[in-house]
Amino acid sequence: MPENSNYAVAIDGPAASGKSTVARRLAERLGLIMINTGAMYRAIAWATIQRDIDASDTAAVLAMLDDIEVTCGVNDGTSTILIDGSDPGEALRADDVNSRVSAVAAIPEVRHLLVEKQREYLDLGSLVMEGRDIGSVVFPDTPYKIYIDASEEVRLARRSAEGLTDVVSKRDEEDSKRKTSPLVVAEGATVIDSSEMNIDEVVDAAMETLREQGLNI
Ligand code: C5P
Repeated sequence: MPENSNYAVAIDGPAASGKSTVARRLAERLGLIMINTGAMYRAIAWATIQRDIDASDTAAVLAMLDDIEVTCGVNDGTSTILIDGSDPGEALRADDVNSRVSAVAAIPEVRHLLVEKQREYLDLGSLVMEGRDIGSVVFPDTPYKIYIDASEEVRLARRSAEGLTDVVSKRDEEDSKRKTSPLVVAEGATVIDSSEMNIDEVVDAAMETLREQGLNI
């Protein structure tokens, strides 16, 4: 844990497991800053599209990284990311980003850059941070770790209810198989299977888990 008393709540899980919504609700209830790390990887994937770079061409992505300015901040209690001063906005959720993001996120140098920025957020205050490797890599020492799961069927249904055609199973497979920081249940994390739960039930279960993990709430 850092020298200051700020702490991180790590929320990990596969695509469309509901972790963003849960993280946002937890952050609201606990008065913490909410950090969406998926948006950071998505912003890098978006930048490859802007520059017409093949996301699986590691050398080209690394050259791009040297050349762009990635600015992470907070607005209204939630993380923000700018690429060369521009906010990609809703474009981060587009299909072309979905189909490239796992390739970009598998590049160790991309992860290194973004993990550093993720850790720096702790200087700003206590956090709820959601992603794939928060409890395993970004903040392995935090006692507050939750892994939110849901069946593939439920996750696909949630994406399509949002009007999105995200192929979550393909991303999960790539995210789980990559060499650097794959999606895993972190040591010490409590798994919550949200398949049969509504969002309020998941948030309640997460609050209860955090109490059990020693958070004084
Ligand atoms: O959370 P979200 O689905 O928006 O994440 C998009 C992608 O970003 C994931 O499929 C994964 O490839 C990558 N990611 C990651 N590590 C994180 C967060 C997201 O590799 N901590």
